[in-house]
Amino acid sequence: MAVDEKASGKDATAEPGRDFIRDIVKTDLDSGRIKGVVTRFPPEPNGYLHIGHAKSICLNFGIAEEFGGRCHLRFDDTNPVKEEQEYIDAIQRDVRWLGFDWGTNLFYASDYFERLYGWAEDLIRAGLAYVDDQNPEEMRVNRGTLTEPGKNSPFRDRSVEENLDLFRRMRAGEFPNGARVLRAKIDMASGNINLRDPVMYRILHAHHPRTGTEWKIYPSYDYAHGQSDAIEHITHSVCTLEFEDHRPLYDWFIAKLSVPSQPHQYEFARLNLTYTVLSKRVLTKLVQDKHVSGWDDPRMPTLAGLRRRGVPAAALRDFVKRIGVAKANSVVDVGMFEFSIREVLNKTAQRRMAVLKPLKVVIENYPEGQSEELEAVNHPDDPAAGTRKIAFGRELYIEQDDFMENPPKKFFRLSPGMEVRLRYAYFITCKEVVKDAAGNVVELRCTYDPATKGGNAPDGRKVKATIHWVSAKESIPAEVRIYNPLFSKPDPTGGEGFEKDLNPNSLEILSDARLEPAMIADVTFERLLEDQKPVQFERLGYFCLDKDSTPGKLVINRTVGLRDTFAKDVAKG
Ligand code: ATP
Ligand code: MG
Repeated sequence: MAVDEKASGKDATAEPGRDFIRDIVKTDLDSGRIKGVVTRFPPEPNGYLHIGHAKSICLNFGIAEEFGGRCHLRFDDTNPVKEEQEYIDAIQRDVRWLGFDWGTNLFYASDYFERLYGWAEDLIRAGLAYVDDQNPEEMRVNRGTLTEPGKNSPFRDRSVEENLDLFRRMRAGEFPNGARVLRAKIDMASGNINLRDPVMYRILHAHHPRTGTEWKIYPSYDYAHGQSDAIEHITHSVCTLEFEDHRPLYDWFIAKLSVPSQPHQYEFARLNLTYTVLSKRVLTKLVQDKHVSGWDDPRMPTLAGLRRRGVPAAALRDFVKRIGVAKANSVVDVGMFEFSIREVLNKTAQRRMAVLKPLKVVIENYPEGQSEELEAVNHPDDPAAGTRKIAFGRELYIEQDDFMENPPKKFFRLSPGMEVRLRYAYFITCKEVVKDAAGNVVELRCTYDPATKGGNAPDGRKVKATIHWVSAKESIPAEVRIYNPLFSKPDPTGGEGFEKDLNPNSLEILSDARLEPAMIADVTFERLLEDQKPVQFERLGYFCLDKDSTPGKLVINRTVGLRDTFAKDVAKG
């Protein structure tokens, strides 16, 4: 798949908030085919939700909201081997955080195991399902290929009585894993491989998070999904494109069984992002093999990771809206997502000052032991956000990058003899550079002009740069974590062998950063961690407190930089 430029803008045919799925829903409501719309979001609890799921959540819950219907949260818990309560809890937390509410409509496919079983017996009685004793390898070979038809199983013509007896004994746990399966009897020569007698049930002696050891057989996705939709009176069962070829099977089950409603399946393109892998198998492996610190590692594309990184839920919703819903697969530039994050944070984040790589500045003509408070605005476009006091004194820190001893022509920040403005404070001029034995610049001796308080000279003289700073005494130390893409290629391997595409520099730790104390002012530390909002460190980007922080040691995450430095960051590696 090539990076599709169009997908990184808006879908050509879509108006804002409209797409082909919403069009179908509207037509069905207008024509009276349905009385109200019912959708569902059906995660399998075998991992945490990621940004791709956010697209599906916003679509399903969004449609229900916009058309006055309802959206169910249904756990597709039909594979106990990989499913865990931890995931069930995390998924609910994440859907809520994203801003959606299923009300009382929380369901589990496992709630329907008994009914699904009953319908399977109905199919057997109708001569439309049979127990197959072939082993998995025989089944695979006899399924045929895209160009060759399959072969009928030697067990295909078992009598209804024998099938019922064997199926009941499968349920009773008489046979080991893999010994037999129940298959729908459709057509081994079908051009659609999904219709070549698909598996409905397999034997699995495993502990299920909800039904414990009650069941020894578990339904397949293809069998469970549509029937669960029918039980819940889902009108529009929306899923991703790879299920398009499964739709005839979806319809076959609905047609053959006496289910309580007639749902329909519709497919849309899944979200793919550059520099990102959204396969749950790979994400699970990243966690298990400790390439990341956990499901909520801020480098992960999971909702838990993005939340911890400081990404607001509103930014995810904005992003999903911008990319639209289309019927052709494409890859969206991850820069688009960062754009949405900046859009939201620029409006909401209060401004602060912090220095990530400090260089000490001594203002020689500022009296020793003296300090003063200067006023800084919290948000340039929002006067209601108010102002705050920041401490100024003889010793300050500025960013190492804001000084060059031998600057090239276009470098207007601090250098020997050069005058710059300290944001909200004074003009300063660099008089002397202090170095250590190894020749590194360790301190700058500067002077300030007391007449420039607030940042303007009464004689009207100008400076070419304004730089940020913090007071050496009043600022607080912190570790700042800068996150670069987890993968170093725009189209990383999404399966086996993904490790080779991991970015070895996805995490940069700056351990000597200094922050304006207002970062943690006014609230208790515990509340701050829970209820924190990212701030903009002026000239640097958006940052938030990480949960690894303790009152003795602050850890700060960079949510996103101020500009789209994406390509550059990656090149730097
Ligand atoms: P798997 O089935 O391999 O475990 P999955 O990502 O499909 O992984 P599910 O829990 O089955 O996980 O997904 C729940 C819903 O989210 C499904 O309806 C699925 O189509 C949708 N979904 C999953 N990934 C994406 C994506 N990248 N973009 C859009 N929707 C997605
Ligand atoms: Mg799935």
